[in-house]
Amino acid sequence: MTDTREDAALALDAEPDAALRRDDFLLPPASGGDFPLAAYLAGNSLGLQPRATRDEVLADLAAWEHYGVQGHLRAHRPWLEYHEHLREPAARLVGALPREVVAMNSLTVNLHLLLASFYRPTAIRHRIVIEDRAFSSDSYAVRSHVAFRGYDPDTAVLRLKPRPGEDVLRTEDVVATLHDHAHSIATVMIGGVNYLSGEVMDMPTITRAGHEIGATVGWDLAHAAGNIPLHLHEWDVDFAAWCSYKYLNSGPGAVAGAFVHERHLEDAQLPRLEGWWSTEPVGRFEMHPESDPQASADAWSMSNPPILAMSPVRTSLRLLDEVGMPALRARSLRLTGYLRSLLETIADSARLTIVTPGEDERHGAQLSVRVPVDADELITTLDENWGVVADDRRPDIIRLAPAPLYCTFHDCWRAADAMSHELTGKGIG
Ligand SMILES: *Cc1c(COP(=O)(O)O)cnc(C)c1O
Repeated sequence: MTDTREDAALALDAEPDAALRRDDFLLPPASGGDFPLAAYLAGNSLGLQPRATRDEVLADLAAWEHYGVQGHLRAHRPWLEYHEHLREPAARLVGALPREVVAMNSLTVNLHLLLASFYRPTAIRHRIVIEDRAFSSDSYAVRSHVAFRGYDPDTAVLRLKPRPGEDVLRTEDVVATLHDHAHSIATVMIGGVNYLSGEVMDMPTITRAGHEIGATVGWDLAHAAGNIPLHLHEWDVDFAAWCSYKYLNSGPGAVAGAFVHERHLEDAQLPRLEGWWSTEPVGRFEMHPESDPQASADAWSMSNPPILAMSPVRTSLRLLDEVGMPALRARSLRLTGYLRSLLETIADSARLTIVTPGEDERHGAQLSVRVPVDADELITTLDENWGVVADDRRPDIIRLAPAPLYCTFHDCWRAADAMSHELTGKGIG
């Protein structure tokens, strides 16, 4: 039985854990309740600010002040090669070779740019497969992308639905659907961790199945990067993209990432949208009419990178890199497992259901919980009465994500206790 007392949570927090870097983050104050700081379980939506970020951004601003245009070469971190600071930590995070990753643009933009290369529709084979419960931006991206290429989005987008009465997809059903439509599918592009259910997809199996039917396979890693271990190179994924403001703590609208598998990097036949940053750096300023594309994911980058926006990404990737994914994941499983066990003790009395699968390999930090009340109102009361920050997806799902870098067992306890008070009229402990 789970010990639901507050003291038990505090005892868990008293055990040292090098993956906990709470002191390196700025935590928001609580809106209500007995504790000065918020129990911030919304890092799946917007990660918190690392303490070091402000000074790092100010240092880059100072370089601009000091050097003007000469900062491209003379700044303490020269702007011309600034993106190189992000490459190796990003590659380690997603399990890629350094030349398979690039930091650029934002997530949805990157999905379009990668589809421009990897969605190669023909009259017969022009479908894109996504999950039915895809994030809106991904749905809009694929619908507009197929329409842009001259196909009808109502028939060209195939949406994977869970079985009736179920909330998450089953790998065998995804694989069966790919085989059922083997000749019409051009590209599979699914979220690696579903934003709504928190379900982790079996990326290696689905990637293999996609390749078996002759499709290209890409993953949206918005909720996966910095959350679960990824091995994109080994899994033979064709392309992937992620944002940096959720588990990567790089700030609202932060510069996103993209991955292109090594085996595509020297394929001269692959169509691509290019700019001056796609070309080999040596010839960049020679103003040739034709590019000499780099044999790296950088060939997909177009513009000179936004230094001030990359500064927070550099800072937070360094922090994640210091901890490393194995330690981070171990802590994450313990934290989320603890939160789940607390919520299970009140599941009947509070009439709540945990939607996120329970097996380790099928979930990340996030637990999605179906509640018997208006989810939006519950989120407001959790915040105002208890200082617990989570978020909701209407009508009845709330999402609680203890981000392992800065959340504690006590934060999980506060969240479960606050839910218990709001839904059953008494505390959990
Ligand atoms: C957060 C998120 C986005 C956001 O896209 P931006 O282009 O960064 O605004 C897109 N897709 C998924 C699955 C997300 O979770």
